[in-house]
Amino acid sequence: MPAVDTADVGPLALLPLPSASALPETQRRGAACVWCQTRLTIETAVDLGERSGPGGVKIFPRGCPDCVRAAALRTYGVHADTCEQCVDNPILCDTRRALRRLALEVRR
Ligand SMILES: [Zn+2]
Ligand SMILES: [Zn+2]
Repeated sequence: MPAVDTADVGPLALLPLPSASALPETQRRGAACVWCQTRLTIETAVDLGERSGPGGVKIFPRGCPDCVRAAALRTYGVHADTCEQCVDNPILCDTRRALRRLALEVRR
């Protein structure tokens, strides 16, 4: 088993998803984008990491690059309002930096 690269899944785990209980099975297991329902392929899918769904059942959501980028930008935009570190000094906030990098790096 390869070690989980937490630097990689970190910002993805912060992206808010639609309520898992409202998602059809295709979106719960990552066959379709969790936001826009586009069918995903190995090449396009961005793994959003394991999340807990209804009744503690694990879901494995994935997103298309467009939606992941949009979600990263949205989360980045509101992050500073809820982050003590950002109020103090945003330059030092790892989360802010990780979200920004995610928004910029997701491939088109
Ligand atoms: Zn999408
Ligand atoms: Zn912050």
